[in-house]
Amino acid sequence: MAEENEQRYDPAAIEPKWQRRWAADPAIYAAEAADCGKPKYYVLEMLPYPSGQLHMGHVRNYSIGDALARHQWMRGYNVLHPMGWDAFGLPAENAALKNNTPPRKWTLANIAAMKRQMERLGLGYDWATEVTTCLPEYYRWNQWFFLRMYEKDLVYRKKSKVNWCPECATVLANEQVIDGCCWRHETTLVEQRDLVQWFFRITAYAQELLDGLEKLDGWPEKVRTMQRNWIGRSEGTEVDFFLAEKIDEGTGNREQGIGTRPKGSSSESGVGEAGPSTALRSAQDDRVVRIRVFTTRVDTIFGATSVQLAPQHALVAEFTAANAELMDQVDAMIDQQKRAREAGDLGAIEKHGVATGRFAVNPYNGQRLPIWIANYILADYGTGAIMSVPAHDERDFEFATKYGLPILQVIKPTDPDVSKDLPFCSEEGVLVNSSEYDGLSCDDAQRQMQEAAVSGGFGEAKVTFRLKDWGVSRQRYWGTPIPMIHCEKDGLVQVPDDQLPVVLPAQIEITQQGGSPLSRVPDFVNVSCPKCGGAAKRETDTMDTFVDSSWYFYRYTDAKNDNAPFDPQTARYWFPIDQYIGGVEHAILHLIYSRFWTKVMRDLGLIANDEPARRLFTQGMVIKDGAKMSKSKGNVISPDEMVGRYGADATRMYALFAAPPDRDLDWQEDGVAGVSRFLARVWRLATKYAAVVRTANESQSKTQNGGAALRLLRKLHQTIAKITLDFEGRWHFNTCVAAIMELVNDLQAADAQLAAGEVSAPVVRELLRSLVLLLAPFAPYLAAELWEELGEEGSVLRAPWPQSDPELAKEDELEIPVQINGKLVEVVRVAADADAKAIEAAALAGEKVQARTAGKTVVKVIVVPGKLVNLVVK
Ligand SMILES: [Zn+2]
Ligand SMILES: [Zn+2]
Repeated sequence: MAEENEQRYDPAAIEPKWQRRWAADPAIYAAEAADCGKPKYYVLEMLPYPSGQLHMGHVRNYSIGDALARHQWMRGYNVLHPMGWDAFGLPAENAALKNNTPPRKWTLANIAAMKRQMERLGLGYDWATEVTTCLPEYYRWNQWFFLRMYEKDLVYRKKSKVNWCPECATVLANEQVIDGCCWRHETTLVEQRDLVQWFFRITAYAQELLDGLEKLDGWPEKVRTMQRNWIGRSEGTEVDFFLAEKIDEGTGNREQGIGTRPKGSSSESGVGEAGPSTALRSAQDDRVVRIRVFTTRVDTIFGATSVQLAPQHALVAEFTAANAELMDQVDAMIDQQKRAREAGDLGAIEKHGVATGRFAVNPYNGQRLPIWIANYILADYGTGAIMSVPAHDERDFEFATKYGLPILQVIKPTDPDVSKDLPFCSEEGVLVNSSEYDGLSCDDAQRQMQEAAVSGGFGEAKVTFRLKDWGVSRQRYWGTPIPMIHCEKDGLVQVPDDQLPVVLPAQIEITQQGGSPLSRVPDFVNVSCPKCGGAAKRETDTMDTFVDSSWYFYRYTDAKNDNAPFDPQTARYWFPIDQYIGGVEHAILHLIYSRFWTKVMRDLGLIANDEPARRLFTQGMVIKDGAKMSKSKGNVISPDEMVGRYGADATRMYALFAAPPDRDLDWQEDGVAGVSRFLARVWRLATKYAAVVRTANESQSKTQNGGAALRLLRKLHQTIAKITLDFEGRWHFNTCVAAIMELVNDLQAADAQLAAGEVSAPVVRELLRSLVLLLAPFAPYLAAELWEELGEEGSVLRAPWPQSDPELAKEDELEIPVQINGKLVEVVRVAADADAKAIEAAALAGEKVQARTAGKTVVKVIVVPGKLVNLVVK
């Protein structure tokens, strides 16, 4: 009994022992210098927000990254595997309000708690490179970058409509508004406010951010698609329509424009004609009021039957000035848009418009089109004005039908089988009813009409992007102070580099009043101007916390540098990141900002890479009983509880085993218990034969082994080949763990032969040593313990990853499925090296094949060697 007790797998004893040893050996997970002679490998998991408690999603994310890091160490790479803390942000302020704890104290305590959890999980991080973004030694470089970007005109300040989360009491970037709500407060509607804000000019890189996606073939296609859509490039033409009357500035009297009331003009509300010459004359006339529209389909412009303005368009104020009724209608529309925007439902807004009684002239043919104001035209998209072509646009068709506007077809489908119904929105067509452009393809017409606009002075080619500049001002305390000073005499003045960092004041009262909390700290606000020395005021907004995470992974390469954000030489060695791992929820936010930041740093001459990460992996979520884990549902599984009950190895291995890493994982405690029992079997097997292994040595003969030894070696080498291949990119870690389980089953099934000495000591040694090496990325504690148990010295992490011997891995026999007329009938066994003739013979001799072909003719036999036989039978 006593002996059996001694042989029990006890993670509560093994794991803390190794945790202590690893903590005492900082070199174990440390990256080496660039001149170490090894190839480099930078594996990175997204850094967490220090909430104080890891959740299972973290455990899964880090288990994937840690398995990869350990595997790469064993493959002989110089591995950088760092961890840090995305430590600024609102929860620290909320906690300060609730518990009266200073944000810094709360945050640092949470970091300590989570670091303990990570260490208990046995995650192999190089803590010497730890980055904590809320500390001045880090955020001073946010300020330094801000100033460099300001000098390059990549930072600017402007008054604009901004997204305001009433819960956060701060501004949000467009990327942080998800379905009309705050990214942190999923049920809080975001409001629109007019504020003076700081912006990063991310749009300066819009085209490059888009083009770069083509080269990121190591990123999931879905992430690239999301970014492509977010950037939203569209190519088209900007065209000036002309207001069909002039505004006399002196008196406010309006008189009719040149030639805008042609002979034979049908009616006030219809579409009139004036002829191209008048349009060209208008283009030359400076007194004419232009209405600029953006269109991707200038080829359809002869089919325009109205011009529509956003309710906020500059001309609308002009129109409503003398028309109270119209003004009320416009106000109602603005209100409607605001509510729809807040509900995140702009697309679904009920389309509604009002005719202004005014007209615009189409510059291509001089036609007079009624001007409408419509609630679905957005002031901040394009030019805030569109031409409406009902025959060739779904939305315009719907609108024209609702209000009885003319529908004029100008594109005829080239394919005669295409429905003649309107709207016809494809570009597979030729122009009709379009004067001299008739008969041109849509492509050709777009080109020629664009040229006509340029030469006629009423338009130009235009590329537009959906991407907007990144608003980074936050009216919060717990963030990086913006290093700018407002001087009455000098205007905006940069904080000089030698006065960085601008440190957050420690003593501050957090309240939920509006405005930045920093503005209520006179010691912080009042400074002398660096330029004139006079009294001046500091900027009191802080930076969006996504600034912190935009470049943190560069800091890991040189985390203690006091003179620069990092050493460019060191960053050049480590970048790009070889494998980045994190949640798909960052596909747009963090992953677009950090790509932008990388391009800016490259243009500052700090780095040589264009993109931060060569490969990106987005793991699935951890759920419970089909639902997201959440406190309100009471279905949260605590990592500490799992580790306490089953050990860190079983918890981590289950997180990898229970689902393919890219899919959602439904956490089942039974499954963790199962993995724990499996590890106990490994433990018993290895300890039982450890003495045999210790006495064996490599020079002993491996011959004189019976069938059992060969079978086990074949299984082992097949398992090595499979897992090695998976680490190279397929990442089906769930099937890797399953393969190890199969190997252990086979070893246990051969227990009698092993016990009887039918397998020689060197083979037992190879089997068990390799088993431990294969386990090491997934169950590091048990692997370390058994490595020692088998008599090995040094860390298992520095032991070479086992090599698969293809000869040993080769099967004696293969299973070949046999189909008759494409349907599987039988599986036959053939020698692994059988040729096509032998495979055909074996297939035809199959028992079921014989029964099915009796009395029939085999017309044809198709043999795919090693894979399949198909018989065509009549
Ligand atoms: Zn919020
Ligand atoms: Zn000054």
